[in-house]
Amino acid sequence: MVKSSVLEGVGKLRTCDYPRPEIGENAILMSMELCGVCGTDIHLYGGNMRIPFPVIPGHEFVGRIEELGEGAEGLEVKGQPLSEGDLIAVVPGTNAFCGSCYFCRFMPHKPTYCTGRRVMGVNLTCSDPPHLLGGWAEEIYVDAEHYWVYKVPEGVPAKVAVLAEPMAVSSRAVERAFAPGIPTFGEGYGPGDSVVVQGAGPIGLLAIAAAKVAGAGDIVVIDMVDERLEMAGRLGADHIIDMRNHTSSEERVEEVERLTRGLGADVVIECAGVPAAVPEGIDMVRRGGKFVEVGHYTDPGNVEINPHIVCMKDMDVLGSWAYPPTQFDTALQLLRRGMESLPLSEIITHKFRVADAEEAIRTVKSKKGIKMAIIP
Ligand SMILES: [Zn+2]
Ligand SMILES: [Zn+2]
Repeated sequence: MVKSSVLEGVGKLRTCDYPRPEIGENAILMSMELCGVCGTDIHLYGGNMRIPFPVIPGHEFVGRIEELGEGAEGLEVKGQPLSEGDLIAVVPGTNAFCGSCYFCRFMPHKPTYCTGRRVMGVNLTCSDPPHLLGGWAEEIYVDAEHYWVYKVPEGVPAKVAVLAEPMAVSSRAVERAFAPGIPTFGEGYGPGDSVVVQGAGPIGLLAIAAAKVAGAGDIVVIDMVDERLEMAGRLGADHIIDMRNHTSSEERVEEVERLTRGLGADVVIECAGVPAAVPEGIDMVRRGGKFVEVGHYTDPGNVEINPHIVCMKDMDVLGSWAYPPTQFDTALQLLRRGMESLPLSEIITHKFRVADAEEAIRTVKSKKGIKMAIIP
């Protein structure tokens, strides 16, 4: 039997034993090593997203191959042969898009737009065999034909590789600022450019690490939790704006101006998911700069924005929603490279067994620690 944590309805999480599934063609049974607990999981639990219950939550998982179905050994996305015991990371969003919606037909390179998108650990129900379609379980059943499987680069341990999914989100947000434009002409993010990251939760922290590895100039972080600010500094933030000292929006904008010789930041990445951070972030961008919105993946409400500022600054306001499956490659390479100098292995601060998943959710809500993970 395989122990899993099953979300049976809003706020109803139960430990459940499923029979070990029989392996099918092109499938992989992986033993979970670590699965991150993400804001999305909290929203699933809280009923803020519509999903077909029951679901095994958890979309940020890494593990070792326990059993390979026929044909699966050749399905690693970069062509590396797979064998039992290999550490793998799986893109939770399927590559089997509906194929018939407007976005699938006209923008096949933007798979996250598909109106029928399926994501392991989010909207795949576990009611039918093989059941194990989410990360909060001792074992996970992966249909390697319809989900991208990456072999984790040599030397990257599970506690770093487990960050591949959030790093895909964060690195795409950073990449969103690359274009449109030519960095040489001061348009778009380029080496040496200044970056402000609003919010030092896991996504903000990984955005800092991604910007650092990708050659940013000064990196400024804004938050108000000691543990997060300290980690932000260790991950590459050069300047810290502590909201407990800079209590008003005006003071924080002024501080960014001071740090950028009165110009404003080349790029601001909003990772706080707080509506008020958006006009503040827009105020922090220099003329011709870019504001990237990645924090509001659910809807916490409205905020007033002065369109004149966007117009006058001739700036870009960009949304960043999830990532294409190719982004895991970027994420794993950034983690591998970043590991050499940054404390990426310390981002997971708390671990909970599958049976204690509810406690993990409570700990995330209490804002203790940096990032929680489920272990078998
Ligand atoms: Zn996530
Ligand atoms: Zn589609």
